[in-house]
Amino acid sequence: MLIDSFNRKIDYLRLSVTDRCNLRCTYCMPSGGIKLIDRKEMLSFEEILKAAAILSEMGIRKIRITGGEPLVRDGIIDLIKQIKKIENITDISITTNGILLNKYLDELHKIPVQGINISLDTLDRQKYKEITRGGEINQVLNAISNSINIGIKSVKVNVVITDLLDEKDIKGFFGMTLDKPIHVRFIEMMQPTGSDSSSETIECIFSVMKKIGEYHAVDDKIGSGPALYYQFNQARGSIGFIINDKNLCSYCNRIRLTPYGTIKLCLFSDKEYDIKKKMRDNYCTADIKAEIAEFVKAKPENREESCSYDNKDKASINFKLKDFMNRIGG
Ligand code: SAM
Repeated sequence: MLIDSFNRKIDYLRLSVTDRCNLRCTYCMPSGGIKLIDRKEMLSFEEILKAAAILSEMGIRKIRITGGEPLVRDGIIDLIKQIKKIENITDISITTNGILLNKYLDELHKIPVQGINISLDTLDRQKYKEITRGGEINQVLNAISNSINIGIKSVKVNVVITDLLDEKDIKGFFGMTLDKPIHVRFIEMMQPTGSDSSSETIECIFSVMKKIGEYHAVDDKIGSGPALYYQFNQARGSIGFIINDKNLCSYCNRIRLTPYGTIKLCLFSDKEYDIKKKMRDNYCTADIKAEIAEFVKAKPENREESCSYDNKDKASINFKLKDFMNRIGG
């Protein structure tokens, strides 16, 4: 079992399979584009499987595939099938922007993946184009309905709160939860130093909820993330909030594997364990495991503690965040 020094049990791996993406979301990628990881530096499928197997032997039970955009990596379905076969992995799910999802949905359902999280920050075609720098919203909307129709167990829509989110969008997202088991989650833009403008939007989301109808808090945990969930009475889906609160880090049960082969303990931490190097240098598995167990003990107490950059001011942290969000996923 993997336990950190704050007694948190680590059983969840976010596995980023690529830094490539077919969208260019304004808040996720710098306007000048990103420097792509050299292909030789990316983990091969064999290396991903070996790393996942090592981690599963150490206590990882749940894996979420992310990116970049995971569905742009060639052979992704075969990779997921292989991961699914690793002993002890009880739950595999994927986070995608949905653009290529229709193409792979049938196969993902057959594997089966337990959950698909689809990122969609507005319901307006033009605003979607603006946020994603060119994406076509209809592909995503179709993919969401098809995921429900085909019978994916958990379908979540991740809405990052941007300045473009308005009341019309909010009502539209609420509408999605009424007659279909879709879980819409409003996500505060991540900043290690705490929230600012999006807390006003969260108030606004609640005030729109009050206008729409009666709702109640959902006690059952829907998923393994730190979200608070509500449901309109009689609705089949739910509405969640992932807020930027460092106190929620006490529930954190995850580590990350980057596409360039390092293990990260927190999105905001720049400490990395280079498992790729150890595997390429043929280190013995027992030594790698011992080093990982030691490394995990250094998981910071919370996201604020994670920031060990020389300059902790907000601008530089946010720049840093943009630099790696697109590579290792939210
Ligand atoms: N391409 C996939 C997708 O779009 O879902 C997976 C990777 S993407 C980086 C994962 C999630 O991170 C998306 O939902 C995206 O909106 C979110 N994200 C990116 N930057 C963020 C930020 N600064 N704060 C909060 N969420 C962010």
